[in-house]
Amino acid sequence: MIPVQGFGGRKVAVLGLGRSGLATARALIAGGAEPCLWDDAPEARAAAEAAGFAVTDLTRATAWEGIAALIVSPGIPHLYPEPNRLIARAMAAGVPVDNDIGLFFRSWAVAGWDEMDQIPKVIAVTGSNGKSTTTALIHHILNVAGRPTQMAGNIGRGVLDIDPAEDGEVVVLELSSYQTELARSLTPDIAVFTNLSPDHLDRHGGKGGYFAAKRRLFAEGGPDRAVIGVDEVEGQFLANQLAQGPADDRVIRISSGQKLDGEGWTVFARKGFLSEWRKGRQVAAIDLREVAGLPGAHNHQNACAAYAAVRTLGLAPKLIEGALHSFAGLPHRSQLVGERGGVRFVNDSKATNVDSAAKALQAFPKIRWIAGGLGKDGGIAALKPHLGSVVKAYLIGHSARDFALELGDTPHEICETMERAVARAAEEAEAGEVVLLAPAAASFDQYPNFEKRGEDFAARVADWLARA
Ligand code: ADP
Repeated sequence: MIPVQGFGGRKVAVLGLGRSGLATARALIAGGAEPCLWDDAPEARAAAEAAGFAVTDLTRATAWEGIAALIVSPGIPHLYPEPNRLIARAMAAGVPVDNDIGLFFRSWAVAGWDEMDQIPKVIAVTGSNGKSTTTALIHHILNVAGRPTQMAGNIGRGVLDIDPAEDGEVVVLELSSYQTELARSLTPDIAVFTNLSPDHLDRHGGKGGYFAAKRRLFAEGGPDRAVIGVDEVEGQFLANQLAQGPADDRVIRISSGQKLDGEGWTVFARKGFLSEWRKGRQVAAIDLREVAGLPGAHNHQNACAAYAAVRTLGLAPKLIEGALHSFAGLPHRSQLVGERGGVRFVNDSKATNVDSAAKALQAFPKIRWIAGGLGKDGGIAALKPHLGSVVKAYLIGHSARDFALELGDTPHEICETMERAVARAAEEAEAGEVVLLAPAAASFDQYPNFEKRGEDFAARVADWLARA
């Protein structure tokens, strides 16, 4: 745990008592503060009390007297569509509003660091897609390199739950736009921006607000190194603003698909090859085509981001290459769950929207595609340009018939259930093809969440492989 610094003997309000709220409470107590906990949901308050915490009714006006700060959970709106009423009250009373990420950055460095040989570092990863994969990949490479490392934020442990730093440690944080928007301290040593596509626009008042929230990670004078995906105009703008000139190698530009020119430090993937260039010269190249845990151009973007981040720490390209090969991938994101007779079974249950499903469909040449669930606005019309790789679709869930109408000439079959879809796709698949779950829809019509849907797919595949 990281004891929170700077609030000793003072009251700090904590709003939202999920996993991160309770971890915050513990870290505040460890730092000598007095947390005042509240959640609008009675069940969450009861769970906190059951875990031994006292709850303070923050809805009473008098409860705010003497409160030094309010710490809020990322799920609670602090600005758009409108601030939660207690956050609004704190703002009106002039109480600083912060989150666990802000507390982490103000508390992470301690006096004992003076005796360390290598000062610990923080790498923070943000972006619309690929955050978890990139974060986990950086953590994996550091493990392979034998560097002490911990992974936290939206993936792994809560930031205040991690252990105090060891000599030479590198903490890798996945940060969402909600978190970067609110944190009052945000000082990573290395900041990574993967890409930007519209998401969570209601919470940020539109795309500009969403970009501004992510951009806070790169405040001028902030990170020593910035790794920035420049495949969208926002990334180009950010890289341009941060760099002093074309050869400024504090900014590493990355791309999946484009060759990046110039004198600067760049890492890009094209036609399955990753290249690193610095000062106009190629420094290294890696063949990504056989890297099983990172299929497709979108994962090559993640590979470039992770590669660039660990290169700034001085890791050797050969070591990184080996670590890419041993990366197993994350569950439910382009995850290989079975293989037989030249047919691979891939679980991308996290592809809950059209954007991520489009990436998955571009990752393999011949696909038996399992799709459907609770469809989103606009259906799958936007997937039309990416259907060339689909040998046949096997449709499940609530949206099966709607998807069938949009598929037109692409062969398809309505299967309703995962069990039937896996059986039919596996029966018909030929060597060289991939049976891919990339639903382009939410899971809630048939499952509690996308993880359960992915697990069901993997279990049906295992049954099939055991039987056939
Ligand atoms: P995040 O943590 O940002 O949601 P994940 O790594 O969990 O990202 O991946 C989420 C979904 O997006 C998965 O379906 C995955 O296959 C897809 N994806 C992963 N990396 C990228 C990328 N760089 N660009 C676009 N889509 C991606």
